[in-house]
Amino acid sequence: MSNKKEPPKPPHETTKMMHGGYSPEEYHGVVNPPITRASTILYPSLDEFEAPFYKYDYGRNNHPLMDEFLTQMTALENGCGALPAPCGMAAISAALMGFLKTGDHLLMVDNAYGCTPRFCKETLENFGIEITYYDPLIGAGIKDLIQDNTRVIFMESPGSATFEIQDVPAIVKVAQAHNITTMLDNSWAGGVFYKPLDHGVDISIVSCTKYINGHSDGLLGVAIAREEKTYQKLATSFRSIGMSAGSEEINLALRGLRTVHLRLREAQKQAEGVIQFLQTRDEVAKIYSPTLKDHPGHDIWKRDFIGSNALLSILLKPAPKEAFKALIEGFQYFRMGDSWGGYESLCQPQHTIVKRRIAVPFEQEGWLLRLHVGMEDVSDLIADLERSLDAYGESL
Ligand SMILES: *Cc1c(COP(=O)(O)O)cnc(C)c1O
Repeated sequence: MSNKKEPPKPPHETTKMMHGGYSPEEYHGVVNPPITRASTILYPSLDEFEAPFYKYDYGRNNHPLMDEFLTQMTALENGCGALPAPCGMAAISAALMGFLKTGDHLLMVDNAYGCTPRFCKETLENFGIEITYYDPLIGAGIKDLIQDNTRVIFMESPGSATFEIQDVPAIVKVAQAHNITTMLDNSWAGGVFYKPLDHGVDISIVSCTKYINGHSDGLLGVAIAREEKTYQKLATSFRSIGMSAGSEEINLALRGLRTVHLRLREAQKQAEGVIQFLQTRDEVAKIYSPTLKDHPGHDIWKRDFIGSNALLSILLKPAPKEAFKALIEGFQYFRMGDSWGGYESLCQPQHTIVKRRIAVPFEQEGWLLRLHVGMEDVSDLIADLERSLDAYGESL
């Protein structure tokens, strides 16, 4: 009998999320790393103090718990390095500022998360950065919008509120031909259902506030770079601005990474149940979810994604505002609140958000409402929707 052993196969992603980001041997076998509370970290010698980059120089830049978490996020996104921020929005702004300067041009997707275009308008424009908003379905057509000073193309796929899917590889191809940096807000996929860096995107940004935390009790953002030189530039921006994140929040997100795949798979099932019900309702003029065959970019979603989360929007048939108000204020479980990705169901009206779109104005008649389907028993959720839609229907 041969005693040659097969080398172990590289672990699958879910296995990596269980067996990375921890070092029990360094903590007497305790499975999880302790919450590092650190500002000062002592240097062992003058050599380390003088080194341009010493691994643990100061708690803002790195400490053992942060390191474990960023290692896991880098592994999840197939990147080469990650940087932390106190929330997703901070990661977006620090990434953009790191790759843009006065006189540069930014191509921003028109259906980006509302605070992203707000940052463009209220901050980047003040620094003399030119911005063009583009149709999320533009694909390779983005080449017609490229200027000599275009430095960044920002994507979000699916976009917020209406969830159009972008043809990322087609856009990346154009960007690479023009030496333009690409960034993608990957919060929707939670780093799990979509791997932008595998499709050539330079920087993936995730709001860990959503599915990775998963319990609506912490804010956190991360930017992950595909290549070392991008990582270095990103790190320069994050460090010079002073981006960092609190240990409690990092701990919650690291804990969330252990179960995020499981929760997302369940989220998808929950949403399927709710969508099936909504499809039977006359009050609903349209459902927005990448999983639906007639959804803009559905084929690309099937090609590039491996799943769907539990966010969807519905366009309610036009009715007086009082009826819409009664509907959202009458929900027992779909309570009105910002954010998503926690265990609980939520609703958020979208009409004030989509009206800011420039490249493709939102012109549908009716009330656009986003639903986050939580982990409650799906029949309770359907009963909640049924009761509210029955009442709404009476006003049609
Ligand atoms: C919520 C959200 C953000 C911002 O994340 P915060 O952690 O709340 O700052 C960014 N992008 C998308 C798509 C989001 O849904």
